[in-house]
Amino acid sequence: MFQSHIVVLIAGLFALQMAVVCVVLRRSAGMERSGLTSWALGNLAAAIASVLSAVQELRPLWLVPESTDLALLAAMSVMAVGARHFAGRPGRAAPMLALNLAAGAAVAWLDLAPQFFKMPPALPEMAPLLTACHIVLLLDLARSIVPSVPSSRGTGRLAALSLVMIVFAAAGINAWMVARPLAAVVQGGAWPRPMPWDGELAMLNVFVLVGVSVSYALMAHDRLRRMLERRARHDDLTGVLLRGAFWEELEAACLQAERQRQPLTVAFVDLDHFKAINDVYGHLAGDSVLRHFAGLLRKACGPRDVAGRLGGEEFAIVMPDAALENGRLTCLRLATSVRTTPCPSEPDPIAYTVSIGLAVRHAGEGADALMRRADRALYDAKLKGRNCVSMHPAPGAGGSEAAVADGRYVTHGEPRVAS
Ligand code: GH3
Ligand code: MG
Ligand code: MG
Repeated sequence: MFQSHIVVLIAGLFALQMAVVCVVLRRSAGMERSGLTSWALGNLAAAIASVLSAVQELRPLWLVPESTDLALLAAMSVMAVGARHFAGRPGRAAPMLALNLAAGAAVAWLDLAPQFFKMPPALPEMAPLLTACHIVLLLDLARSIVPSVPSSRGTGRLAALSLVMIVFAAAGINAWMVARPLAAVVQGGAWPRPMPWDGELAMLNVFVLVGVSVSYALMAHDRLRRMLERRARHDDLTGVLLRGAFWEELEAACLQAERQRQPLTVAFVDLDHFKAINDVYGHLAGDSVLRHFAGLLRKACGPRDVAGRLGGEEFAIVMPDAALENGRLTCLRLATSVRTTPCPSEPDPIAYTVSIGLAVRHAGEGADALMRRADRALYDAKLKGRNCVSMHPAPGAGGSEAAVADGRYVTHGEPRVAS
């Protein structure tokens, strides 16, 4: 049979280990505002609480009865501050610090002043007050985490929900443990000092803090993973998919179109005379134009369409389940919105246009061949004077010149060159 001081020390060791985990996670790039430093400190305080609890059990006269509760108060306070950082609502740490200092001062006054000044205790019993503080801090933790529970299923969501559940259960148990003696005190009885279950409650709270730290570390790790995945697949400047990720999506869409015998259209989009925009307005303005264009691109795309930046000022769209007509409409919508929505800039907005090459996948065609045909169509659009949408005919239809003769090229308005 384990003695409780051994068990609480084991809980303290877990807390120390969690402090190390938090420090290691915190060292990853992108984890600056994750609150993990606070949680590492909180776990350290929880480990100290476990040592104090063990000492209390073995040598009750060495420490004031509330020392474990004070260490737990400090642990929960820094964790609550960290959780607020995680949730993106960093509150001030000062109220928490004030709470801890006030509690420490009150305990010191209650326990030490009578010894030195030969006076009766000036304050009421502290244990229920400290437990009430613990309950409030636990609920504050849950309040910070609940709004940032990820909406999509996965590790992050599971970890956040488990954290909230543990916290609510712990708050409930804490409340229940002090409710009965508190009721007795209210009816005029005396508060047992130290409480007979002090050790058990402290042990429970240290284990609770270790448990919620595991959930918290998993949440932080999940957030880091999502951020890295996003960075690896998305272009920083425009937010659309990078070339590699776009190509993966395109290949997957080709396979699916082949399997399900569905149409698939791709568009190759290139900003016209973009070098001139850079030369005249500068590279930063050029970057703004790229960002502005990406916004219009996202708006023009349907929910299943996938947009990517292939490099420089070249973009592409995969339109699954879109036949030629739908693809053409999407591209016309995009070209029109670009032409009619100049990029806001000082002193004047920057007007620009795009050229678009379209190709519809035919049976058995792979991603490479399909994009090559879209690229050919784009080249034709540039030859036709830019600011237009050009469609590549299906192979065997007589090449792009035939398409021109058939009147299949669509040109809208005069190209407007940024000067
Ligand atoms: P065209 O109408 O024939 O497409 O002419 P263009 O000037 O758009 O094409 P060109 O290939 O001559 O120039 C593309 C320019 O895009 C050259 C390069 O400096 C610029 N560029 C590429 N990537 C970026 C970027 O991330 N930001 C900025 N500002 N410019 C970029
Ligand atoms: Mg260009
Ligand atoms: Mg180009």
